[in-house]
Amino acid sequence: MSFETDKEEVVRDTLKKIERMKNAAGKTLFRQDLQEEIQLQIKVDNSLPHGRFYPSEVYPGQWRATEQTFKAMKKNIFALGDDIDELKHEYKCESCSEVLDIQFWNFCPFCGESFKYE
Ligand SMILES: [Zn+2]
Repeated sequence: MSFETDKEEVVRDTLKKIERMKNAAGKTLFRQDLQEEIQLQIKVDNSLPHGRFYPSEVYPGQWRATEQTFKAMKKNIFALGDDIDELKHEYKCESCSEVLDIQFWNFCPFCGESFKYE
């Protein structure tokens, strides 16, 4: 009923979609199309494996990822909204063979290799 409750619902829906993508691709991805009141924070932590986002267990809304992962991430994914499922474009990296959805990435977040388009 309150605005806060609406936002929580958006968060839940978003997380559910993220979870589905994770199941589909075997990789953790996320998106955020929430109001600016909810900030998505990504803290660089180079001790983690590349290509994944780890939610902070301490700070809600904070995620950790390597610098390479952060740079590889397209910053406009937050604006995709509900078109995200239709835009899904799986790509297998020629260098490291990881399968990812290139709508989220500027280059391979796992090994740093550029995408080769046919
Ligand atoms: Zn790669």
